[in-house]
Amino acid sequence: NPNKTFEYRIMPYGEEHMLLIARDITRVSQLEAMRKDFVANVSHELRTPLTVINGYLEIMPEAEGADPFVKKAMSEMATQTHRMQNLIEDLLVLSRIEASSERVYENVVNVGSMLSLIEREAQALNKDKGHTITFHVDKELSVYGVETELRSACSNLVFNAVHYTPAGGEINVYWSRKPSGASFSVVDNGEGIEQAHLNRLTERFYRVDKARSRKTGGSGLGLSIVKHVLSHHNSALEISSTVGKGSNFSFVLDNELIADQS
Ligand code: ADP
Repeated sequence: NPNKTFEYRIMPYGEEHMLLIARDITRVSQLEAMRKDFVANVSHELRTPLTVINGYLEIMPEAEGADPFVKKAMSEMATQTHRMQNLIEDLLVLSRIEASSERVYENVVNVGSMLSLIEREAQALNKDKGHTITFHVDKELSVYGVETELRSACSNLVFNAVHYTPAGGEINVYWSRKPSGASFSVVDNGEGIEQAHLNRLTERFYRVDKARSRKTGGSGLGLSIVKHVLSHHNSALEISSTVGKGSNFSFVLDNELIADQS
């Protein structure tokens, strides 16, 4: 039946037979598709009104002779509108990745130059933090993948390290070839995360400390984006962390994804 979606499993059955189990997941996948569509449409529709509000808010505090309270309120509204815009952008990125049919093997990503862009952005973000951020990058190591997605994943991990490490910290970013594949990791000596949270960190909107994370301006979607990007590239995020010592966020892209096989 072309209108039905099935999930299949093959299991050994006795010595000579195989058992094929088909599960009808039509309803589940319809609901999932509706949810994705809904989120994508709402996010898209919210973009325009927010751009208009933000446009006005940005010019208003400059109005001559405005009451100090009004000025303060305007600036706070501008900050919050900005946050909402970031959230919407992240929701759209997530929807795009979920709907992405872009083939991982079609394009070669020059990870070295992608990471030097991220390094520059991280240094800009680092202005009031004063961390020592060092990138250790194998410039020759390129992979097959979707560049926008990989950039989003790597930058989320690097920017998180900048945000969640107290001022003056040390952050190291590694991109190198390992026996198991191309390895990316971000190591910080920041606040660390309790073990109990680790499994849930990649859930949408999951945060260890809601109030504090909100102050950093994050949407709570960053690690969820990372998880989706990595699953699209047949990989998974690994997190190890010690409270008070720091965290290590890493992933390995399979040897088959390494573009230069020489
Ligand atoms: P957010 O927008 O809140 O940063 P993320 O999905 O990127 O959302 O991260 C989820 C939560 O994981 C953060 O709110 C924070 O509590 C925790 N986290 C992420 N990266 C780090 C890190 N390098 N060190 C400590 N905590 C982190």
